[in-house]
Amino acid sequence: MYIVPKLEDYSPAALDKAVQELLTAARQEAEAAAGENEWRAFRDRWMARKNGILTQINDLWLKAAPGPSKREVGARVNQLKVQVEEYVTVAQQRSSGSASKSRLESERVDITLPGIVRPLGAEHPVIKTMNEIVGVFRAMGFSVAEGPEIETDYYNFEALNFPPNHPARDTQDTLFIAGQEKKPQRDRLLLRTHTSPVQIRAMLNQPPPIRVVVPGKVHRADTADATHSPIFHQVEGLAVDTNITFCDLKGTLDHAMKSLFGSNVKTRFYPSFFPFTEPSADVQVTCFKCGGKGCRLCKMSGWIELLGCGMVDPNVFKFVEGNGYDARKISGFAFGMGVERITMLKYGIDDIQLFYQGDVRFLEQFG
Ligand SMILES: [Zn+2]
Repeated sequence: MYIVPKLEDYSPAALDKAVQELLTAARQEAEAAAGENEWRAFRDRWMARKNGILTQINDLWLKAAPGPSKREVGARVNQLKVQVEEYVTVAQQRSSGSASKSRLESERVDITLPGIVRPLGAEHPVIKTMNEIVGVFRAMGFSVAEGPEIETDYYNFEALNFPPNHPARDTQDTLFIAGQEKKPQRDRLLLRTHTSPVQIRAMLNQPPPIRVVVPGKVHRADTADATHSPIFHQVEGLAVDTNITFCDLKGTLDHAMKSLFGSNVKTRFYPSFFPFTEPSADVQVTCFKCGGKGCRLCKMSGWIELLGCGMVDPNVFKFVEGNGYDARKISGFAFGMGVERITMLKYGIDDIQLFYQGDVRFLEQFG
């Protein structure tokens, strides 16, 4: 603490010298005060009413001064007071200025830093392929229909011309809802094994002509491995009108395969069998890896089997006859394809399980 010297000599010269020393001390302190706290300490040491240096000077110098000198001493004490107040004001401005400067410094935004990148989600590759397939048929005038994943035996098998003892109903292939043994077979609930029951539902909803594609999930009692999954996706299609022929089926699917895989793929139709179409065919396209020369992907055949199709069996129309589907007047074709299989072939993926594991490192490649 600064100790104010007592005055022995009250001559003007001695007073000037003592005042000068005090002012020098005050100026040095003012200049040294950095920041709010030091400024407050400086102000209080000099200007506090009780025990501040100016108060001490008032007591030690002015009150102690002999009568004739009081005037001289009073003038200098006032001068000192004015000067110290000015130092305090200047020091305050400087310290608050530096405080706001340091706050500005700490809150400075560096606009050259890279921004926060929020990763964007992307369509799952299976959904992406499914949308592409649906888009191709929509462009040809097909509308989209959907149906329940829990179906009755009637829609999943019977109305699609599966005979009562057809092996597809076996529990090794089909997942049935438990505890329905008392129900008649056609009412038993199961997880649909294909999207084909929606063909029946669509024809019951709408008299001919009809053109629908049916995307959706299907279920089989398969053990998961690199090429099988108990849940997968299909896109089914149905067109019924007067004078629909196998040529329409070939032309439609050939166009669809070229839209999906490129205009240079060729298609061929290979005899096959499905209960709900007659005649039936498997559609093969030229291998998109080797272009037909033969490679590991196409097992050296040059062809890849992609979908099943055929002309709607007249027996199927019997189940929807009441809604205008008279097999003597109308005809139609149907087709169905596995979305996972097409996605795997399209992107060269060798394990179907990758689609369901949710590994972002795999999925982000399809953004
Ligand atoms: Zn090939």
